[in-house]
Amino acid sequence: MHLLFLGTAASEGYPDAFCNCSNCARARQLGGASLRKRSAVLINNDLLIDFGPDLMAAALQHNLSFANVHYCLQTHEHSDHLDTSHFFSRSQFCGVQGTPRLHYYASQGAIEKLFSTFLDYKIDLPVNDIDLGDQMNLCIHMIAPQDEFAVGPYNVLSLHANHDPSITAMLYVIERNDRVLFYATDTGELSEVTWQALKEHGRKFTMVAMDHTFGFAGRSNGHMNREQFLEQIERMRSEDLLADDARIFAHHLAHHSNPPHPELVEYAQQHGYEVAYDGLRVEV
Ligand SMILES: [Zn+2]
Ligand SMILES: [Zn+2]
Ligand SMILES: [Zn+2]
Repeated sequence: MHLLFLGTAASEGYPDAFCNCSNCARARQLGGASLRKRSAVLINNDLLIDFGPDLMAAALQHNLSFANVHYCLQTHEHSDHLDTSHFFSRSQFCGVQGTPRLHYYASQGAIEKLFSTFLDYKIDLPVNDIDLGDQMNLCIHMIAPQDEFAVGPYNVLSLHANHDPSITAMLYVIERNDRVLFYATDTGELSEVTWQALKEHGRKFTMVAMDHTFGFAGRSNGHMNREQFLEQIERMRSEDLLADDARIFAHHLAHHSNPPHPELVEYAQQHGYEVAYDGLRVEV
């Protein structure tokens, strides 16, 4: 699988446009990999993880077209991961023709957020029919944690994220041709239910992209700092969930708790992991 990081920041972006803290100021000076948009990734040009608010900016910056995206896995409906206006941007309502039907996999809460936007726009919805068909060029698949399902050529396992108890947030194990990505943002320390499901699934990850929101700050719930991040990796190793050539990436980085990219890379290198950045391409 070919993976492209479209964005690697936490919810406010990095730098946060409204912030002049030393991290944000240095990130502006350094530019390049220290400038992060809100988190999303593109796999093989056909699978997106999250319809995030910075997709349009990412497409401009990296000279990309998303016209061939057939599938989207939505982690959760927080606004730094789901901007429902993109559904119109890819539809006949914005003059777009000839793109493939989008298969959209999301929780009930995320789907309800999408439907409420459609109603705001007075789209005549068959609300009880989850296949919206031609109107939005969309096929919705409601999923829940611990579902295993095919997404075109990919095999996917959804898992419960330890994030915001008022919603259902999900992590994904995505597999194709024996290569396995564990996409784990936004989450705090993984729950025992999730560890059990990962063990039963039995796949060894060739790549992990995991929450590092609170980096150098204290331990947290709902997101992780560097200690919690390293503890999860250690447990993956002890549970035999990491392939020999596994690459581990810190992802979803907040300006208030992580230094600009070069300094974070220095710390990560000493501790056996890598730091994602916008525009980074990885062969999983
Ligand atoms: Zn987030
Ligand atoms: Zn800042
Ligand atoms: Zn979130």
